[in-house]
Amino acid sequence: MRAFDKCPVCGGELATHLVEKILSGGGNTASMKVSAEVCGKCGEHLYSQKLSHSFDEIRRKLQHQEFSHLRPIGQSFTVEDGWPDQTIRSAG
Ligand SMILES: [Zn+2]
Repeated sequence: MRAFDKCPVCGGELATHLVEKILSGGGNTASMKVSAEVCGKCGEHLYSQKLSHSFDEIRRKLQHQEFSHLRPIGQSFTVEDGWPDQTIRSAG
């Protein structure tokens, strides 16, 4: 069952695509591919209610440093303080 028939933003046609979604919380990030309705006109991504609940759950886990059902695929970094190019600053 489709949650939307037309794009609620512009009324454009929607098509189901596998899109990359990045969630973050507590300094952690998780990336995944999700099935979303994507507007062919404005590019808006629409997620089902079930998917939105999953996003909330994943953000909550990241915030609380709970990583059950999450798999590490690498490390994320920021620059150290004093990076020579002063236009780059540490993210946290
Ligand atoms: Zn649209």
